[in-house]
Amino acid sequence: MSSTEDMISAMHDGLAEVKTETGPKIPVPETYLKATKHHLKDVQEYLDWYKKSLESPNDFWSEKAKEMLSWHQLWTGKTLEYNFDVRKGKVYSEWFKGGKLNACYNALDRHVENGHGSQVAYYCEGNDLVDDHRTVTYAQMLDQVKRLASALKKRGVRKGDVVAIYLPNIPELPISMLACARIGAIHNVVFGGFSAEALAGRILDAQCRVLITCDGVMRGNKVIELKALADAAEELVYERGDGHLVDRQIVFKRLGDKCPVGMKPKRDEWWHETLAKAEPECPVEWMDAEDPLFVLYTSGSTGKPKGLVHTTAGYILYAAITHKYAFNYQENDVFFCTADCGWITGHSYVVYGPLLNRATSVIFEGVPTHPDSSRLWQICDKYKVNQMYTAPTLIRSLMRAGDKYVTKIPRNSLRVLGTVGEPINPEAWNWFFNVGGDKCCPVVDTWWQTETGGHMIIPPPVRGFQMKPGAASLPFFGIEPVVLNEKGEELSKPCEGFLCIKRSWPGIHRTVLNDHARMEQVYFSTFKGYYMSGDGCRVDEDGYYWLTGRVDDVINVSGHRIGTAEVESSLVSHPYVAEAAVVPMPHDIKGQGIYAYVTLRDGFEPSEELRKELRQTVRVEIGAIATPDVIHWAPALPKTRSGKIMRRILRKIAEKGTHVSSEELGDITTLAEPQVVAQLIELYGK
Ligand code: ATP
Ligand code: MG
Repeated sequence: MSSTEDMISAMHDGLAEVKTETGPKIPVPETYLKATKHHLKDVQEYLDWYKKSLESPNDFWSEKAKEMLSWHQLWTGKTLEYNFDVRKGKVYSEWFKGGKLNACYNALDRHVENGHGSQVAYYCEGNDLVDDHRTVTYAQMLDQVKRLASALKKRGVRKGDVVAIYLPNIPELPISMLACARIGAIHNVVFGGFSAEALAGRILDAQCRVLITCDGVMRGNKVIELKALADAAEELVYERGDGHLVDRQIVFKRLGDKCPVGMKPKRDEWWHETLAKAEPECPVEWMDAEDPLFVLYTSGSTGKPKGLVHTTAGYILYAAITHKYAFNYQENDVFFCTADCGWITGHSYVVYGPLLNRATSVIFEGVPTHPDSSRLWQICDKYKVNQMYTAPTLIRSLMRAGDKYVTKIPRNSLRVLGTVGEPINPEAWNWFFNVGGDKCCPVVDTWWQTETGGHMIIPPPVRGFQMKPGAASLPFFGIEPVVLNEKGEELSKPCEGFLCIKRSWPGIHRTVLNDHARMEQVYFSTFKGYYMSGDGCRVDEDGYYWLTGRVDDVINVSGHRIGTAEVESSLVSHPYVAEAAVVPMPHDIKGQGIYAYVTLRDGFEPSEELRKELRQTVRVEIGAIATPDVIHWAPALPKTRSGKIMRRILRKIAEKGTHVSSEELGDITTLAEPQVVAQLIELYGK
């Protein structure tokens, strides 16, 4: 059928044909409710707390801040002051202003002081399955942190200096972060999978004089020479900056003989030598609640990464409270977040959230599919993991590999499964719930961003809550989401539009490093008085939030707004399809058309027949209006290192085809496999 006919039929059917049903509801499983303790009695208690958090935010947050954190000095002023409205002046948020505390003290010292020094902080699982693991207790963490902190201080690092950290996902990464926090330095973690180019950009932007790295790391069967990359980054910094910026490199020996490195005299030193000689005691620097704790660059899915600044008290409180309630983390549980500490997910749920709550966590250095697709489940079994938190991209790839990798491993310890990073399509949700968790574990689909510090919308894993596969569900305590239309008017449910947040919360980032104007422009200028998330969402009759993808990705077909996430879910529901990404394309008649990139599961071949079938699937599931105009077979999709599909590249290819230039493709330094782009361009029109 031609596009014109599609359009006409869609106009006849109108939006009535677009499905509005909210999908099946699945109660939080009884097996889970019986298997563990609960912080909250039931969904009613969750809603009561939520109500209180909005009606009396000062009381709610001061109670939590006193209960969950140790303060050197309580705040004297207001719990919260903020302005979200650019018309009234500078945008800012201040939480617990005047209070004094230290993030490292809260994550480590107080637990050791309270007699928990011998508790395991991290089970460290290396790249290799056998003989590549160690255990680090809270007391050991604290000892290493103090030594590194005093070494940093001795090398001139002062409160407010930014230290770059370029390490694999090993305990030395949280140790480095906390050593910075201890002395009031600001950490700038750069994901160990990034290139020299990306590292250089982040060192320059944040003006880092000290870099903590390691010799190398194994990723599957490959050696990645991190130190060599760090040196190359230093060269780039030198070429672009005003001379040698990094005058100190502390190098952890991870691979030893497998990865020989050149050490530059005076600049480079070995971690183990430095820490052995370092002063074993290092007093904590009491920080103001609003002093910066770290800078972290966003994934770069939508453009040049932004260096977001998070401050001390609000961020750590928010990381701790979300970790505790979104996963129902109980004392003695073993928590496993598969993210790398190079992402906000790692910052909040490998490092700060778990350590603040004195959790025992797994920190995993390797690749989830090495040596095969059962690795994550093996880790869960090995350490008797109770909560596992991962990303939809990984769930889809495990699903694609087949159930046998899961079912052969016992997973009895699992209580809660979580996801973050992209909308999870119901197909993948169901697989995660039914196969991964054996129908025994609630799936917590957490919507949040680097900017938000912690979870914003979650399906609370509590008695009586009805989950809906694919819905991030309900706002967390203190979060007041609103859905706006293009004019900036608040809509009432059921509705669809721009997801914004109406008031400040403790975990919100305070600024973009050295560029407050960019922060105001990106998040607060389109809709005055609101934080604009950049994501679109739908709220159903029951008040559940469904993320529909990024606002830039919403496709306007003949005046109808179609969420990319919905079309993608529909395509992935076809048994042959492993993954799909949908973007707008220019269309003479409809304004915008729907362009779908489709990756098939192993063993299936593209054909015209299948193209028709896929279009029909979308037509039946969503409506004629959402039928893809083009289906582009994709051997793989371009993804960021954190596993997100880079739709802006796909948009450009859909628009320009084989004529697309590298300028038009933009910053691709955060891409995991850049060669995928050329492959896709070659397959254009085929
Ligand atoms: P950049 O801001 O540089 O473009 P990014 O937005 O990918 O990069 P992150 O902060 O890591 O950087 O990702 C946040 C985004 O990820 C959200 O805005 C949203 O689009 C998506 N996301 C995260 N979790 C979910 C979820 N549970 N459901 C739907 N989308 C999600
Ligand atoms: Mg973003």
